[in-house]
Amino acid sequence: MTPQIQCTDLVRIYSTGGVEVQALQGLTLTVEQGEVTAVVGASGSGKSTLLSILSSHDTPTAGSATVAGHDLLTMSSRERTRYRRHTVGFVWQQAERNLLGPLTVTENIATSLAIAGTARRARRARSRELLDVLGIGDLGDRRPAELSGGQQQRAAIAVALANEPAVLFADEPTGELDEANSEHVFGALREVNRALGTTVLIVTHDEGVSRQVRRTVQIRDGRLSTETHREQRVGEDGEEQTHAREYAVLDRVGRLQLPEDYLRALALKDLVRLQLERDHVEVHPTATEEKPE
Ligand code: ADP
Ligand code: MG
Repeated sequence: MTPQIQCTDLVRIYSTGGVEVQALQGLTLTVEQGEVTAVVGASGSGKSTLLSILSSHDTPTAGSATVAGHDLLTMSSRERTRYRRHTVGFVWQQAERNLLGPLTVTENIATSLAIAGTARRARRARSRELLDVLGIGDLGDRRPAELSGGQQQRAAIAVALANEPAVLFADEPTGELDEANSEHVFGALREVNRALGTTVLIVTHDEGVSRQVRRTVQIRDGRLSTETHREQRVGEDGEEQTHAREYAVLDRVGRLQLPEDYLRALALKDLVRLQLERDHVEVHPTATEEKPE
């Protein structure tokens, strides 16, 4: 099966007033259909740039990107419009971009459905289903200002899903929420994935996301560095346990970045000693006296 999202060596250079900023510096990411993935990184690491490209609001300077079978670099402007209306859903970082203030939540969803061309009769049933999946079934008649931050974000997700997108993108969906509300929103995104099968890609600076989704990818300087995969397993005592595994992306010329906490734990710095074993590679700190001249 071809991946639902595939970006290869994405580069995005912004030039403003003669100054060049490399927002993405050769980013490669694969997301399989039905996966929930979070990209985590500090402010300015290129997260919003990545989502702008994947949602076809921006084009990369170099590299390739396909989403749900659409090649984002060769689409005509008509295909772009169709793609944004039918293939992908978007929860924006700026909360006010997600919901129309004067309309109720149900009216917001209905508007999104109308733009996507859904028949009037089908709109009501689809609204109901979405409100229920997102756990805000009793809030359909409220306006955004009458909702808490977490409820607003869940309503925003409902609106983004109205047109039944194959892929949902969310930019900092918990940026302005406390921990309890953040958990509700991540829970809602997992439920959307489970109930509707939507592929979900979240970008956030919230490191806590790695406890909330199965796969977390770290972005640094416009490039992906390491990945954490978590899975729930039932232990011998019958208790559910969470297991995490760390991965690093190995680029085409063999470079990889070690997780920062690994570097700190062994004081790895400058020159490290590599040892090739039969089926793995060891990385050792180098004692000062054994460093070559
Ligand atoms: P993040 O979402 O991770 O905070 P962004 O993708 O917004 O990061 O930005 C990555 C880098 O690109 C930053 O250095 C930012 O200042 C720069 N950048 C983003 N958008 C623009 C733009 N439209 N013009 C110039 N520079 C930009
Ligand atoms: Mg951003």
